[in-house]
Amino acid sequence: MEEQDMISAENLATIKEVGKASADAMLHAANLVKPGARLLDVAESAEKFLKERGFGLAFPINLSVNAEAAHYTPSFSDERRFAEGDIVKVDFGAERNGLLGDGAITVDLSGKMQGMIDAAEAALDSAIAAVRHGVSVCDIGKAIASSIESAGYLPIKNLGGHGIKEHDLHAELFIPNYDNGDFTILEEGMVVAIEPFVTTASGKGMVVEADTCEIYTYANDVTVRSPEARALLVEISKSYSKEPFAVRWLSGLVQSKFRLYAAISELARAGALDPSPTLVEAGGKAVAQAEAQLLVTKDGCEIITRARL
Ligand code: MN
Ligand code: MN
Repeated sequence: MEEQDMISAENLATIKEVGKASADAMLHAANLVKPGARLLDVAESAEKFLKERGFGLAFPINLSVNAEAAHYTPSFSDERRFAEGDIVKVDFGAERNGLLGDGAITVDLSGKMQGMIDAAEAALDSAIAAVRHGVSVCDIGKAIASSIESAGYLPIKNLGGHGIKEHDLHAELFIPNYDNGDFTILEEGMVVAIEPFVTTASGKGMVVEADTCEIYTYANDVTVRSPEARALLVEISKSYSKEPFAVRWLSGLVQSKFRLYAAISELARAGALDPSPTLVEAGGKAVAQAEAQLLVTKDGCEIITRARL
């Protein structure tokens, strides 16, 4: 393994603090997810929770509802509220010194979807049991899929886990939620996230991009035509040059919501920003997610982030 892949003792201590704070923030948010609560209020409360404890944010909190699997975060004037019958994925992480937390839990407001959530958590348990130095990512995927399928559900095949490095939430390694035949191995010292996504047997087991996009990542400094987009890019490169950001975090910088989205779109088209659009189940079916962050060790793993309701 390359020397830079190994985590130093100092960084290990920090990432454990980051991981604990991430789990605490997820639970804080999950406890606010109730029928009638505004998504925006939950998002702002959870982000404030980490900032008050001296952490940055690894990414804007994701509050993805029902068939939304990932990447929904409220807009700045968002009036959406949780409803009875919703199934809500809370995916969040803290940041300190470029070290990133990442984890997720699912909240059932329907009283009917706990089975699917349990299937996601059991699949994550199976994956964690398989993780050690030298295991291939397809073997982890196989453990995840067989656990989910034995419970009568489907894994989402085009979402999965990933490596995590400094300022790099999705480092190159991909950990599938099924046996994809990839024999890339996990090595001692790697930090990874594993995230089974589960849908009903009548779903497609795939996600597609929706029209909404509230999360972007700074990519390049480019020259754009409109002065508003130019000014916005200066601010983004100053405040959010490393980790993904929410459009709502920029709401004070542009006169109107319409002009803010126009400027963001111009920057994305020009290649200054990478979009992370909301991802929805292709068959429109409900999705559950469980996610933990792990440090791979010689004989197993150490859990960095995991929240359980
Ligand atoms: Mn996540
Ligand atoms: Mn992740």
